[in-house]
Amino acid sequence: MTVLVVGAGPTGLALACGLLEGGARVRIVDAAPGPAGTSRALGLQPRGVEVLDRLGALGDLPERGVEVRSVLVHVDRREIARLRVGGVTKLVTRPGVMMSQAEVEGQLRARLAELGAAVEWGHEVTALDHDGWIAGCDGAHSRVRKLAGIPFPGVPLIERFLLADVRADLPLDRTAVSTWVDGDRMFALFPLPGADRWRILAPEPPSAAEAEASDRAAVLLGLLTEHTGFPAGLVTEVGWTSAFRIHRRLAGTYRAGRVLLAGDAAHVHSPFGGQGMNTGLGDAENLAWKLALVATGRADDRLLDTYEAERRPIATEVLGSTSAMTRLMLGRTTAGRLVRDHVLVPLMNRGFVQRRIAEASSQLRVSYRRGPLGSAHPGRRPRAGDRVAGLPWSQMRGRWAVLTADDAAVAAARRHLGPDAVLVLPPIGGSAASLVRPDGHLACRGDAARIDRWLTATLGVPPKVPAVA
Ligand SMILES: Cc1cc2nc3c(=O)[nH]c(=O)nc-3n(C[C@H](O)[C@H](O)[C@H](O)COP(=O)(O)OP(=O)(O)OC[C@H]3O[C@@H](n4cnc5c(N)ncnc54)[C@H](O)[C@@H]3O)c2cc1C
Repeated sequence: MTVLVVGAGPTGLALACGLLEGGARVRIVDAAPGPAGTSRALGLQPRGVEVLDRLGALGDLPERGVEVRSVLVHVDRREIARLRVGGVTKLVTRPGVMMSQAEVEGQLRARLAELGAAVEWGHEVTALDHDGWIAGCDGAHSRVRKLAGIPFPGVPLIERFLLADVRADLPLDRTAVSTWVDGDRMFALFPLPGADRWRILAPEPPSAAEAEASDRAAVLLGLLTEHTGFPAGLVTEVGWTSAFRIHRRLAGTYRAGRVLLAGDAAHVHSPFGGQGMNTGLGDAENLAWKLALVATGRADDRLLDTYEAERRPIATEVLGSTSAMTRLMLGRTTAGRLVRDHVLVPLMNRGFVQRRIAEASSQLRVSYRRGPLGSAHPGRRPRAGDRVAGLPWSQMRGRWAVLTADDAAVAAARRHLGPDAVLVLPPIGGSAASLVRPDGHLACRGDAARIDRWLTATLGVPPKVPAVA
């Protein structure tokens, strides 16, 4: 049965790649006439890097990214905190990559082409009439979500943000994101790849409410001088500008019959913390292997309910943390601003706070152990549902991994999943085999019989190849 992926942003592209790797038939369509050259997201968190690596879509993105080592926070024009980022911790062994969303999408399209597919541009979905599966990856204003009657409750968080990508000779450290907070206002400069390229981002001041597109740059250049003291003349060229509102919304459900939602179609939140694209990539990877198994008849469609059960709580958490960070940085009350400027921002200089922020935003702590396929029982780690660390991700390419020296355990996995869908890796401690899902989380641990029972229960259909007596 064919899967129709609606939307060729990062979520739809990653989903299409994962589905093809899982053996499904896929069409991917997008209403736009062609790929976007401009970029919203600027960062792949370590989890996003891992997802692309598993999909075979990382390419040379890490080499092309900007190396960002710190986030500078100025309060009233004085540098109060230097938050170190991109370092290695026990959890985060590979840093994120600061680079344009457009480049990430380009790399995913290259992988899609390797897998024998291409985006059908200029195809807008206007009605749902399809006898296969439909994956709505069509962004915050998702038509698929509306057509499926899925509610998208939530609230606006901030009136409007303005953004401009510019060329400028700024006397600033290009290995740092520089931010200025001043009362309830803030201003940020992000280095972009290229010797003199920067992104300017700031909330729209009330005096410039609803600035016309042609006035946005002028408003931002005025703010540049106000916050940093740099003359606007240092900006030599203004490229793309945009204005956007920040909402916090979560879809009522991720599945309605044969319709599934992923990425911004399912959740939107503040860009503070750079989590949106990464959460969409995580959705795509989680959904891809399940939908591929269902669409190819190797699993019952009840498996798809575990997608929402595993991923919606992650989105709920991201909505909460990014909203809190936004409120904190914008300091809406006098008390809030005092706490921000004199307690919280200075705390960002502390090593343990920096590690906690780096690990929380990396998304590598994401675990499905409390979900229907997980296990919260105390015992050896990782537990079922936890991310397994340190595997050779680039070898996965949509496959499952069995970490074992036991041929019977491998045979059990292959009977259910197919001969080419299982990668065999050396065991990690103990004699039990570990079955790792294509998204890098532990499925189960045990002998061949245990793997067989887990797959029988999880997939809900008998294996294609019966066991040899
Ligand atoms: C200013 C800004 C900065 C951000 N910074 C970050 C960041 O640093 N890190 C981060 O992780 N995230 C960030 N985000 C969020 C990130 O950009 C989004 O989360 C991400 O683009 C979501 O990807 P998606 O594929 O789900 O949706 P989208 O990228 O919105 O893609 C949806 C696609 O669907 C297509 N489409 C829409 N309707 C239809 C239809 N009816 N038929 C067919 N096709 C359709 C569209 O043309 C589009 O190509 C930022 C967002 C903004 C606004």
